[in-house]
Amino acid sequence: MAKLSDAHIHVGQFNDIYTSPQEVVAFMRQAGVEKYVVMSTTIWKEDYEKVLHEMRELVTIAPNNALPVLWLSPQMLLGGKLEMMMQSGTKWYALKVHGNHPWSQNGVNECANIAEELQLPLILHTGDFPHCEPNVYKEIIQSHPQVTFVLAHCRPLDQAIVVMQECPNCYGDTAYTPSPEVRKLIEAGLENQILFGTDYPLQKIHNPNGDLLTDYKAKIQDDWKVMSEKQWEKVSHKNFQKLYKIEP
Ligand SMILES: [Zn+2]
Repeated sequence: MAKLSDAHIHVGQFNDIYTSPQEVVAFMRQAGVEKYVVMSTTIWKEDYEKVLHEMRELVTIAPNNALPVLWLSPQMLLGGKLEMMMQSGTKWYALKVHGNHPWSQNGVNECANIAEELQLPLILHTGDFPHCEPNVYKEIIQSHPQVTFVLAHCRPLDQAIVVMQECPNCYGDTAYTPSPEVRKLIEAGLENQILFGTDYPLQKIHNPNGDLLTDYKAKIQDDWKVMSEKQWEKVSHKNFQKLYKIEP
C-alpha cells in the first residue's frame, strides 16, 4: 500500500478503557500506518506525569512513527504545568484544545498565542457542542496567521468548509467524517488542507462489538474512494508531511 499517515489518534485512558503505547504501536504497524499524530486522552484525568510517560514510551518504541501532541487544559495552564510539559524532553509536534474543557472566555485565544510562540500547529476539536464549532474559532484562526490550525472532524461540515476556504492557515482532519462529507471537502477545493485521520481507538467505545482493524481498513477505503489518486496522495500523507515538516 502507498504511504499512509494518520493525523488523529489517541493513547491512554478513556472512560474505563485503557489503550497502552504498546497497543497503539502494534496496531498502527498492523494497519500499515507510517506516521501518526498521538494525543493522550489521559489528559481528562489531568494526570500529566502519566501523559508524559505514555509519550516517552511511544517514541521509545516507535521513534520514527509516533508524533506526540501536547493536549492543553485550563488546569495545566493555571497550575503552571506547561513549563514542566515543555521541559520534559518530549518533542511535541502540535498542541491540542478541546472546547469541553472549562476554558475562560479568552482561553482558546491564549492557547493560540502559545502555539504561535512555540511555532506549533494547534488542533481544535470540532463538533458535538455549539461551543466547539468552527465558526466559534474563526476569529482566532484569522487573528493568528502564523499558526496552522487543524479542525479535527470538520464538524459541522458547512462551517468547516467556509472556515477552511477563508483561512489558508487552517486544515481539517477526517476522523469520523463520513465519506459523503469527505467528498464535499474535496469538491470544495480543499484537497491541500485535508488530513486523513481516524480517532483510533475510540471505535472501542462507539462500536464495542466491531473489529478495530476491520473498521480502520474500511475507513481508509471510504476516504480513498471519494477522491482521485492524486488527491489521495495529498490527503493520506503529503499534506501531513508539509504540516509536520517531515522529509518525504
Ligand atoms: Zn479524537
